Amino acid sequence: MCGIVGFSGTRQAAPVLIDGLRRLEYRGYDSAGVAVADGEEIHIAKVKGYVKNLSDLTHDGADIRGLVGVGHTRWATHGAPNDINAHPHLSSDGRFAVVHNGIIENYASLRQELTKKGIRFVSDTDTEVVAHLLEVYYDGDPKKAVMRAAARLEGSYSLGIVCLDGSGRLFALREQSPLILGLGVGENYFASDVAALVPHTKNVIYLDDGEFAELTADTVTVYDVRGKTIDKPVSRVNWDVEAAEKGGYEHFMLKEIMEQPACFKATVEPRIKNDRIEFENFDLTDEELKSIDRIIITACGSAGYAGQVGRYVIEELCRIPVSVELASELRYRNPIINERTLLIVISQSGETADTIAAMRECKARGARTLAIVNVVGSTIAKLADHVIYTWAGPEIAVATTKGYTTQVAVLDLLAVYLADRLGLMTPERYSALITAIHDMPGKLQRAIDLNRGIKKLAKRLCNHNDIYFIGRNLDYAVCMEGALKLKEISYIFAEAYAAGELKHGTIALIDQGSLVVALACHEPLFDKTMSNIEEVKARGAQVLAVALEDDRQILKKADDFILVPRTEPILNPIAQVIPLQLFAYYVAKERGCDIDKPKNLAKSVTVE
Ligand code: GLU
Repeated sequence: MCGIVGFSGTRQAAPVLIDGLRRLEYRGYDSAGVAVADGEEIHIAKVKGYVKNLSDLTHDGADIRGLVGVGHTRWATHGAPNDINAHPHLSSDGRFAVVHNGIIENYASLRQELTKKGIRFVSDTDTEVVAHLLEVYYDGDPKKAVMRAAARLEGSYSLGIVCLDGSGRLFALREQSPLILGLGVGENYFASDVAALVPHTKNVIYLDDGEFAELTADTVTVYDVRGKTIDKPVSRVNWDVEAAEKGGYEHFMLKEIMEQPACFKATVEPRIKNDRIEFENFDLTDEELKSIDRIIITACGSAGYAGQVGRYVIEELCRIPVSVELASELRYRNPIINERTLLIVISQSGETADTIAAMRECKARGARTLAIVNVVGSTIAKLADHVIYTWAGPEIAVATTKGYTTQVAVLDLLAVYLADRLGLMTPERYSALITAIHDMPGKLQRAIDLNRGIKKLAKRLCNHNDIYFIGRNLDYAVCMEGALKLKEISYIFAEAYAAGELKHGTIALIDQGSLVVALACHEPLFDKTMSNIEEVKARGAQVLAVALEDDRQILKKADDFILVPRTEPILNPIAQVIPLQLFAYYVAKERGCDIDKPKNLAKSVTVE
């Protein structure tokens, strides 16, 4: 959540910092600020609301002089989102300014301790204790002060610190919250996300928990927790600046929806060599594979719903029991797990706090872990025994689209791969599936092209207050994601129900004019779903059906329809979800919502 940037160079820092904050806006925030040292003083500008307010206030940074600084977008956890609580926070002696992402869990006792020493706090944040600890521990050596202060902190945090020492020193610390160093020529940077670094450099160092770095214009030194210098590998980022910009689309979300055929291809093709699926970092022996008697998929939000699709597909093809567990529940449930459990962990950012915690819990109990993540070098990728990256590129809109579909694509590939390795698939079936996978980018493009008219549909249906999504089997799994998309960005109450479950309760809510989105693509249960459509229609519901494009039967029953191309059934959820994303997008647009940055949501949920 929120964003941190840091800069040390030979040009004015504030414009660079503000530009960096702009590139992190998508992560979700409520206020923004910068602190810049000019050798004599640390100048601070911070304000509630958008980065634009900060840039208006400072003439895009031009008003703030100095070559070294830090910037922050805040997502308030302690203290209201207002100007005073906005970061950076300054020590009373004006020597240190601090920006912080995460939560200092022991802030209350530290605050009490510091207050007793006569320190006056100006904000309600947990963060401010860090600035004051630094001043208390400073004895002429800022590095020492940073280490001594860090030793007092409990919780999860990344910290950016600028210190008025010499021409200004910059520190970056990481503890369970992402922070990446960017290496430039004559200038260096850090940020909580590569999106803010790629305009300047593609050479980065991923800090690990407990490590911290000291940056000047010409040097970057990384230390371990005891202050010993460590050699860190420099990685190359393969995202470019354009990938993190809107490219002519009105919203990132629409751009990312449209990118899905290409993202599917980028994720899947490198894993198919000579018509065989091969993963670069998932290499179990036959014996290890056969020893797996259970798969648990754990994730949060849409990643969990990708897992729901994966569950149907893996169980169907591999005959291994699969359960999908919400990470926030699994971690506290004293789960029954052993070495025969394969834990699949899904997260776009690879930094989802609940998912990381659940993963640690299951690893400790002996589970083998496979991560499906989009961000290289992220915490989950590092913690896992095996990683399969989704190559979706940077996803900026808070509501995931290409992140989700590439996760499903990896799960589909994995299911086919495992079924084959377990000897459960004939060569004919295997090669038919590989052909179908190769055909998918074209089918996904067709799912977009078939639904150009969805804008009109959205205009007509955008005033419903609650919308019910129903379906069976894979259709039900897709309903979950379709409903979530709609509620995330349009704020309409939407919920997914297994179509067969409706009559056991929820049908009581169906009334004249209720809108029911009925997914009827899973052919083995088509007739059953049709009966459910009849049931809701009999109670006056208006039905928007999602159906295969060659299905004539449903056209007679539904009031409106969304058509998707026919694909291999296990791949169909990816094609089906695209028009549901478009529907959510246009409904939200009609309702005037802030589509890329929905209220109350953050992109990378790094707090519990
Ligand atoms: N806990 C800090 C605050 O409430 C930082 C929140 C953040 O990650 O932005 O100010």
